[in-house]
Amino acid sequence: MPDKYDVFEKRCPMLGHAISFKYCRSVNSTTPCRKIMDCWFEQIPIRQYLEENFSIETIQNLLQPPKPKIVSLLEMIDQARASSQHSQT
Ligand code: SF4
Repeated sequence: MPDKYDVFEKRCPMLGHAISFKYCRSVNSTTPCRKIMDCWFEQIPIRQYLEENFSIETIQNLLQPPKPKIVSLLEMIDQARASSQHSQT
């Protein structure tokens, strides 16, 4: 669904080029980029926007500190292992 802020653009610190708010609010398909509050608080009332458009769970996930890379890696290995075992049965 189009959003009134979708026309806003800024330089993404992760991608290194201009990006629209539309991308930032839906970067993970239906969830926003975890840096959306840091990147957009000066241009739009981002906290209010998130509260009006996303669930409490999604906002809480955004506020969680990122997992250490080793934890994410181990989770990916476990998922791949489980998927491999499932496909062999
Ligand atoms: S919110 Fe994410 S995708 Fe958007 S500009 Fe910031 S880092 Fe880049």
